[in-house]
Amino acid sequence: MPAGRGTAQMSNAFQPSTRVAAPPDGLTEAERIRILAKSAIFSPPPMTDPQGRRELVGLTREELSEEMLAIGEKPFRAKQLWHWIYHQGARDFSVMNTIARPLQIKLAERFVIGRPGVAAEQTSTDGTRKWLFKWRDGQEVETVYIPESDRGAVCISTQVGCTLSCTFCHTGTQKLVRNLGTAEIVGQFLAARDSYGEWPTPKGEEGRRLSNIVVMGMGEPLYNYTNTARALTILMDHEGVGLSRRRITLSTSGVVPMMDKCGEELGVNLAVSLHAVRDDLRDELVPLNRKYPIAELLAACRRYPGASNARRITFEYVMLRGVNDSEAEAHELVRLLRGMPAKVNLIPFNPWPGSPYLSSTAEALNRFAAIVNDAGYSSPIRRPRGRDISAACGQLKTESERARRTTAA
Ligand code: SAH
Ligand code: SF4
Repeated sequence: MPAGRGTAQMSNAFQPSTRVAAPPDGLTEAERIRILAKSAIFSPPPMTDPQGRRELVGLTREELSEEMLAIGEKPFRAKQLWHWIYHQGARDFSVMNTIARPLQIKLAERFVIGRPGVAAEQTSTDGTRKWLFKWRDGQEVETVYIPESDRGAVCISTQVGCTLSCTFCHTGTQKLVRNLGTAEIVGQFLAARDSYGEWPTPKGEEGRRLSNIVVMGMGEPLYNYTNTARALTILMDHEGVGLSRRRITLSTSGVVPMMDKCGEELGVNLAVSLHAVRDDLRDELVPLNRKYPIAELLAACRRYPGASNARRITFEYVMLRGVNDSEAEAHELVRLLRGMPAKVNLIPFNPWPGSPYLSSTAEALNRFAAIVNDAGYSSPIRRPRGRDISAACGQLKTESERARRTTAA
């Protein structure tokens, strides 16, 4: 059971309106099991290439050791491979000069160190880069790199499409095709690094161009929790890519039963897509709210481990003109967040073809930001990045279609 569970609902000024607060633990647990089971329906295809060679990217250290044992090699080979794959960025066994040639050949016969196919790559006038990656089964996702002056974040996708259908999000207009596998999630980051030649892994965390990960691309990561968690664990491993959990932010639309698990097991920064301060409006904008309303969502945020001033939860709030951007709503937001270490990212709505909203006016944005800021919450207005190549928040979508009908549509 998560630490601090059950105490959160009692905390300070937050009073749920008409809805119930977090469900009893048993219910949450049952929901969690249901979500994990449902996620398996959309599982990715097996990670082997057409020659039947096993993909090594995406295996945990233990699984890599087991693969070595299975071919009669010592487990320490797994440590060597890990170093080559995740520290050196090797894609070919022949460059692994700590491994003798006969073993290199044996490995190459059985295994592959894959990367996604690059179906397209575009760079925005502001330096943002977007890739359309293609997997072995032909499905595609988009990944974005957003550079800052001395660092940068790779925005990673976790699903092809999304089961949820937030009304302002382009990805939400594409049905969920399938979950991405661990190798595919890790592979996006490795391929982005290839593109910037940032191998071997720079020492320490300073000065890296690809210094952060935001799990904010296509899909809902907490509906593909197992693969996402495995992938992030691999990317955090200090003998490889070695990104600290403080440099990783996972964004969720509010899958409450999985938030505790994410906090306990991964401890990465959490971003929550709030977008409305009343359930009636949030039910419309983020339909998942009908299942996990604002009160439950905020209770889960309050009990998120490590929530402290140093590790504030980020609330994302897309600014939709005349829909959710009034002064009254800014005041209500402040009231809802009271007592919680939080930061609010105000995201001007990014349009996409046929999108039904307009971005808030500059005045409305500034007024909203000032109210939240005056209440003591940092509330930056996010500068849209990569809009000219449709790489900004909520603009990602691919042509991938679901090949067969499934029961969980
Ligand atoms: N499914 C997760 C993560 C992917 S969406 C989630 O919903 O949190 C990443 C962020 O982009 C979310 O905050 C989402 O609400 C926001 N977003 C979606 N569409 C947008 C749009 N058109 N303009 C601005 N932000 C958008
Ligand atoms: Fe899915 Fe997030 Fe887009 Fe909603 S905002 S449809 S949860 S990707």
